[in-house]
Amino acid sequence: MARTYRINEIFYSLQGEGFHSGIPAVFVRFSGCNLACPFCDTDFAAYEEMTVHQIAARIEELLPQDTQALRSPILVLTGGEPALQADAELLIGLHTLLPLPIHIETNGTVELPEDLYDWITCSPKEGSRVVLREASEVKVVYTGHSPEKWVEGIRAKHYFLQPCSCANTEEVVQYILAHPWWRLSLQTHKYIGIR
Ligand code: SF4
Repeated sequence: MARTYRINEIFYSLQGEGFHSGIPAVFVRFSGCNLACPFCDTDFAAYEEMTVHQIAARIEELLPQDTQALRSPILVLTGGEPALQADAELLIGLHTLLPLPIHIETNGTVELPEDLYDWITCSPKEGSRVVLREASEVKVVYTGHSPEKWVEGIRAKHYFLQPCSCANTEEVVQYILAHPWWRLSLQTHKYIGIR
């Protein structure tokens, strides 16, 4: 019997945060997380069991018809914590069935299959045990704790600091001005009222 994955939702929108902000993206949200952050605003409890073929078919339904040759939009695995479920079998299957670059948004506490992601966004959380040592970008939700340990602990090209629930933006701006290796990330989808 084919392996199934617990999928909370699959939808097409714009990537709202970080380096690829503004780019059209299909989001696959996995159910479940191994952390319980107090500021978490994602309802990822409900799920449907889906095979890799069912996931790919749902994604294809959402794509505009002329995107096949363009390798656009991007495919973003998110959650919850997608790395708890997204194994090599799923990634190889999606790469085979779809022409899209595959990104993951992970809290960094779970090892990832090697060389199967086109982009890794690590969003480490205070007090958690992060095992990821390298990512494409690090994106930290600023809750008042110093984020410098993540610069030292995770090698990346880009370091983004993001206000918590769109609330402490001024504090984040001041922090970045004093620590200019950080860049500002805003949850732009929330400001413009899209998912
Ligand atoms: S790691 Fe992300 S999805 Fe998991 S509880 Fe924290 S904010 Fe929510």
